[in-house]
Amino acid sequence: MTSTASTDNTSRTYDQWLAAASALRPETRPFIDGAFVDARSGETFETTSPRDGSVLARVAAGGEADIDRAVLAARTAFEDGRWCGLAPRQRKRVLLRWAELIRQHAGELALLDTLEMGKPITESVRVDAAGTADTIAWYAEAVDKSYDELAPTPPDALAMITREPLGVVGAIVPWNYALLISSWKLGPSLAAGNSVVLKPAEQTSLAALLLARLGTEAGLPDGVLNVVPGRGEVAGQALGRHPGVDKIAFTGSVEVGRFLQVCAGQSNGKQVAVEAGGKSPQLVLPDADLEAAATAVAWGICYNAGQTCNAGSRLIVHSSVKDRLLARIVAVLDESFVAGDPLDPATTLGPLVDAAAVRKVRGYVRKGVEEGATIVCGGQESGPVRPTILDGVRNESVVAREEIFGPVLAVISFDGDADEGVRLANDTDFGLAASVWTRDIGTAHRVAKRLRAGTVWINTFDASDVVTPFGGFKATGSGRDKSLHALDSYTALKTTWVALG
Ligand code: NAD
Repeated sequence: MTSTASTDNTSRTYDQWLAAASALRPETRPFIDGAFVDARSGETFETTSPRDGSVLARVAAGGEADIDRAVLAARTAFEDGRWCGLAPRQRKRVLLRWAELIRQHAGELALLDTLEMGKPITESVRVDAAGTADTIAWYAEAVDKSYDELAPTPPDALAMITREPLGVVGAIVPWNYALLISSWKLGPSLAAGNSVVLKPAEQTSLAALLLARLGTEAGLPDGVLNVVPGRGEVAGQALGRHPGVDKIAFTGSVEVGRFLQVCAGQSNGKQVAVEAGGKSPQLVLPDADLEAAATAVAWGICYNAGQTCNAGSRLIVHSSVKDRLLARIVAVLDESFVAGDPLDPATTLGPLVDAAAVRKVRGYVRKGVEEGATIVCGGQESGPVRPTILDGVRNESVVAREEIFGPVLAVISFDGDADEGVRLANDTDFGLAASVWTRDIGTAHRVAKRLRAGTVWINTFDASDVVTPFGGFKATGSGRDKSLHALDSYTALKTTWVALG
């Protein structure tokens, strides 16, 4: 999840970030039909910072009535063609302006994200805010370069295959990459001409609301992008069940993804694209470059404090190189991960999102030990959660099967050939990502082909760009963000058959 876009208000010292944080007055109300409005319910919920547990703001808890209002605004905007009826080049211009405004507000967007979920500010700036602008700009550029098709018909007919926007898209997103994942839904769905209702996660509502305001400033017509913060089981469910929504684009847990599929079946049969979690294996064969693998494994499990859907949480390593590799990983963890205040630019390991996450991660570490694993590093029972390596894990054990969502690496060793490694790597309910480490190019390709995951890396981990699709197999779901394939997924194919006489 890397990005290279430059931003202009983001090179601040720790003191400057602290000052910027205390000066923030974020908007907390739903953004519907081009304006911030009060939630009909009048209810609010607290958004707190994992930095220190302080209350950042009271956010309006959007309810069924607010979702209804937002869907109606989106539907009206879609039906009268104020957005989908524009020339592609006009839509492109608006989206490019929006991307530029996002760049100009990158510091504020990054700050909101960091304050709400604890990600180190340098990462929020470099990856999340910059990547959000890049993603919107990339889909903007695609708008007027996408052609439709003519079918090979007999000479007396002309059959056109065109892509048309679906209508109203409901986007439901998680907190771990709140801005970036929102952009993965908003970029292609808006580029394709849809109207959108975005429901951010409870933990991270504020940056999404700013994003919507910037969209309107850029020229998105009223009602085209609406953001309704609120609780998942209330606002999220209302969106999932709404008969006026044509597609739900969901990223989050397996359970909620499946629930939304049920909601779709019980309402209007809307499309549901699910992108859920992972238990991604990093498979290290005996001839691997251990130095490179150690760095990638360390970052692969600890980036964003392990709160990453494609975190490389299972290290499947040949026993002949395991000890050497683990020693190197521990060294990289010591050198690279500085725990601290996420507003300090020197911090590379922020706190977990909330106290419940800390309890959950510690519970998994205890469970791993009960099941026979040994702690190589980390595993402290108090203070901030530190990078933790559990060695001697069996692939059947809970810590190898369930998503921990923290910086906890499960090490599973094997003695057999590459086939045995592949078997262990694929022995998981998930299928989001995987990597293989070997210097043998033939083995690398053979193994990569057999790994059942939406993204397979060879001799690297977490390399990505908007140009390639991202999503999973098996329980991870079948949705795909990013690339032109995502643009397609927000359209329906239409056949127009013309008799030429
Ligand atoms: P979550 O499923 O609890 O919440 C995700 C979103 O769904 C939030 O907006 C939430 O409010 C909403 N929601 C919750 N209950 C709902 C309900 N009953 N009806 C409708 N909406 C509801 O997930 P989370 O804890 O926010 O995020 C972490 C999960 O997301 C992890 O499993 C992680 O692996 C996954 N994830 C996947 C990807 C990917 O691209 N595949 C990316 C990031 C995160």
